[in-house]
Amino acid sequence: MTPSSGQAVSVESVARRLFGEELYGMISEWCVKRESPDKRHALPKGRVANVFLVVEPLSRLIIRHEQETTDVTTVPTYAGVDVPAILNTKLQSGAVRRQMLAMLHNWFSRNSEVAKRELGVESYTCSMRPYLKRQERQAQVPEEFEGYCGECPNCLMFGYAVMEGGGYNVKSRVEGDMYVGLVDSALSVVSTTFNAVDDITKTTFRPEAPETARTGALYEYRMIEVGTPFAGKLALRDVTMAELMLTLVSIARTTRVGGRKTHFGEIKIHIPAVLFSSYEVGSGYEVANRALAKHGGRRVTVEEAVNEVVEYAERFGSHGILVVDRELGDKLRSLSEAEVDAVILQAWRDALVLKRSLEMFVYKGREG
Ligand SMILES: [Zn+2]
Repeated sequence: MTPSSGQAVSVESVARRLFGEELYGMISEWCVKRESPDKRHALPKGRVANVFLVVEPLSRLIIRHEQETTDVTTVPTYAGVDVPAILNTKLQSGAVRRQMLAMLHNWFSRNSEVAKRELGVESYTCSMRPYLKRQERQAQVPEEFEGYCGECPNCLMFGYAVMEGGGYNVKSRVEGDMYVGLVDSALSVVSTTFNAVDDITKTTFRPEAPETARTGALYEYRMIEVGTPFAGKLALRDVTMAELMLTLVSIARTTRVGGRKTHFGEIKIHIPAVLFSSYEVGSGYEVANRALAKHGGRRVTVEEAVNEVVEYAERFGSHGILVVDRELGDKLRSLSEAEVDAVILQAWRDALVLKRSLEMFVYKGREG
C-alpha cells in the first residue's frame, strides 16, 4: 500500500511497509535511538545489521582495482576454481556512497526551506573529492566546496577524515565485504577487442604509433559477463531506523559499478536477507564457496544465487532478528519520493545529533 498524497508520511509508516507489521516492532526496538545529543551516543552500541546482497550485472562489468594491471580481479576458492570478485571499495565508496550523496543533494535542492527550519542547515555542498596535496589544495576552490562536510548523513554513515589540524576523523559505520562471483572465471570473464581510435581524428589511423602499427591497432578488455551473480554482505553498525532505511535505499538504488560506467557496469542489487544482531556474521566468500561446492562453478541464475544467500543467512537465524524477503530490494526501489524524503529528513536529524554527541565526547569528555 503506497500512501496517497496528502497523507502524512512518517519514518514509522515506511518501516512498517518495508519490514511488515510482524517484524517492525522488533526491528524498531533493536535500532539505536538518538533523540538528543548525549556523549554516550559516541560509544559503540553493539548493534550490527548484517545486510546480505546479490549483485546482478545487467551489462558487462569492468572492475579494475588499484595496483592491478588486469581488468578483472579473480580470487581462488576452496572448490578449486577462480572466480571474479568486486572489492568492497568499488561498491561502497565508489557507488553506494555516491548514490546516497546524490539523494541527499536532490532532497536538499527540493527542501531547502525544510532543511533550514528543521535542521538549521542553510547550505549543502558535501562532495567526494580526491585527496590533494596541501599546496594543490590551497590553490583550489573555496573552503566550503572542499570535500566532505562532516555533518550530513553521508559523512556520519560512511565516515570522513579531516585533512589536518584540529578535529577528529569519523570511522565508517558501513563495513564491507568482498563480492564474490558464484561462477568459474573461465565461464564468467570474457575478453573483448576494440579498435584503438586516435583521440584527435577519431579514426583508427594513429600518427603517433610506430610506422608499422598506424592503422588497425586493437586493444582488449577483460570484462565480467552479464548475469554473473556476486554474493556479499555489508555490516551496518549502531544505526537508527532512519539511517538503516536510508542506507538500504542507497544500496538498492545503486545502478552502476566499476570502470567505463557510460558503457558498462550496470547492476541490480538484490537484498534478500538482513540479520539484526549484536555482532557481525557471514561473508560473501563463504556463500561463494558453498555455492561452488554445490554447483561446481557452472553458470547459475540470479534466482539460484539469491536462494544460496537466503539458505546461508537462515543458518544465522538464531543470532538475532532475521528478515528474509526476496522482494526487499524492489520494495526499496519503489518507495515514493515522499517516503524517501521522510527518511532523509529523520536521518539528517539523527546525523546532527550524533555529530553533536561526538563533539561532546571528544571536546568535553573529561569534564564528567
Ligand atoms: Zn557530508
